[in-house]
Amino acid sequence: MDKISIALSRWYNTKNYLFPWREDSSAYSVWISEIMLQQTQVSTATPYFKSWMNKFPCVKSVATAQIDDILKTWEGLGYYQRAHNIFFTAQTIINKYKGVFPKTYDELIQLKGVGDYTASAIMSISYNKPYPSIDGNLKRVIARLYGINDFKTIVEQSKKHISILMIYTNPSIINQSLMDLGREVCTPKNPKCIICPINTFCIGFNNNLIEKFSIKPTSKKIPIFDVSVGLIIQNNNILISKRKKEGLLGGLWELPGGKLVASESFKKCLKREVLEELDIKIKIINEIGTIKHQYSHFKINMRGFKCKIKSGSPKPLVSDGIKWINFNEIKNYAFPKATLKLFNIVDND
Ligand code: SF4
Repeated sequence: MDKISIALSRWYNTKNYLFPWREDSSAYSVWISEIMLQQTQVSTATPYFKSWMNKFPCVKSVATAQIDDILKTWEGLGYYQRAHNIFFTAQTIINKYKGVFPKTYDELIQLKGVGDYTASAIMSISYNKPYPSIDGNLKRVIARLYGINDFKTIVEQSKKHISILMIYTNPSIINQSLMDLGREVCTPKNPKCIICPINTFCIGFNNNLIEKFSIKPTSKKIPIFDVSVGLIIQNNNILISKRKKEGLLGGLWELPGGKLVASESFKKCLKREVLEELDIKIKIINEIGTIKHQYSHFKINMRGFKCKIKSGSPKPLVSDGIKWINFNEIKNYAFPKATLKLFNIVDND
């Protein structure tokens, strides 16, 4: 028996990290949790997973839901294309697979939004088959453990090593123990090697070469955009517009407006954007304030203005629809986080 497999398995059973998605290892539960956990911390994903499962306890409940309801449940989790893909894939499972989750890797990988990582997680955790799920955490652990510094081949090498570990112990436990180890012990900075269950076998630790075998994160400069939006008010209602399904924040509702170009002022930008998006001219009443928000690849400074229509009748020229809603109805629609922040500073007088 492989000693690393045994050590990992013992540690996994002792630590017993209790996440809601570990209460049920069905393919549906693993699929939803793994999609939520992409680019998202466990602590952030946990409440979303619970409310998702309360609302959509099975594939059929997703396939028959309204996309707006799905987006509302996803609101604030980001990367909204993931929610669209879940909706699409649930329908595929109902229509093509008669409601039964596919059981092979080749079928899983064909599902929209399901990549190698998620397909392997379902295969190993739900079906206990030897498919390693390689993400950043696992690559880091494997590179340090086996002393790998050829990071170009780290995915293949990780798969090779983990596949061997899976021969000796339950693939589900190996995958999940490595996920837990990478998240809790073998962290990018200051790994807790002293308490690591596999430190005896770790080439990086035992040769004092952890730095050498650590994959360096690529630091990119995040651009900052100035954005101007309008709270267009008429008869105590405000005008909201639905973003196109494709693209960033697809399918979410937002306030009309957009990015400043060149040396444009916030007010000038808003008037131009509203004319382009809705074919109306507006009169700006007053400024609401400015909020800052960081998305994954950029930051925005969003300034909002209360406005009223000066001329024209709004038409959805570049969106998937517009609506007049009362302030009390905001909670019924899914908005990007930045817009929700702006709503919070609106003075309703
Ligand atoms: Fe990571 Fe340290 Fe454990 Fe090696 S001993 S796997 S570097 S935590």
